[in-house]
Amino acid sequence: MVSLFALLGLFAGALVNRLGTDLPTRRRVARPHCPYCGRDRPWWQWVSLPSYVIGRAKCPYCGAPIRLRYPLVEIGMAVAYAYLWALLGVDVKLPLYLVYTTVYAIVLITDFERRLILNAVMYPAILFAFVAGFITPEMTWWSALAGGGIAFTFFLIVGVVGNAVFGSGALGEGDIKLALFVGLTTGFPLVIEAMMLTIIIGAAISGLLLITRLRSLRDYVPYGPFLVAGGLITLLWGYAIADWYVYR
Ligand SMILES: [Zn+2]
Repeated sequence: MVSLFALLGLFAGALVNRLGTDLPTRRRVARPHCPYCGRDRPWWQWVSLPSYVIGRAKCPYCGAPIRLRYPLVEIGMAVAYAYLWALLGVDVKLPLYLVYTTVYAIVLITDFERRLILNAVMYPAILFAFVAGFITPEMTWWSALAGGGIAFTFFLIVGVVGNAVFGSGALGEGDIKLALFVGLTTGFPLVIEAMMLTIIIGAAISGLLLITRLRSLRDYVPYGPFLVAGGLITLLWGYAIADWYVYR
């Protein structure tokens, strides 16, 4: 079963690649095609990993290489899906968490590549998480709503204050919608942990980038990936981390 979920993740990764590329351009989501010559990819390249493995990771018509992002996303999704199966097994949470992971993967791609967190992704995701709050075990609908409300309000305030202090802020509307999604999926009280992890990871990585002079204070550092990290870590190991923190 683990390999079945890994395979499922591989295909989901191919779909995520497609959405991450097509959605920001507001084009209709197209069949996989070469971005250079525009011709459709042959079916055996719809998932890019096999072409990489056999060393033919390029367009058979014009020879343009397939970007490394494609196999990396596919491998990441395969590992994530297999891990979720191993962690949860047959559980109501399994299909929900598979969807959440897929949403996070698309957000990571568009935020890293274009500094965009799309409404076309976030609105359906928020609606899904809201409905899922009613059926998630170990969570009540009010806990999901409270989680969403707390995360939303907190990042709204951070965004408004950030704008007032630094001019046009580092924290955009997309980040605030993503925070709402993180809150809905983790619920209260775990949302507090998710926010703390987001801030700690954000501060640590920003600090590291400053020290290594890869970024200066004025440079833009996307906050989306930190929210994804905080939300995902809490979703997977939230109670374990809380236990360790309280009882160590
Ligand atoms: Zn081509």
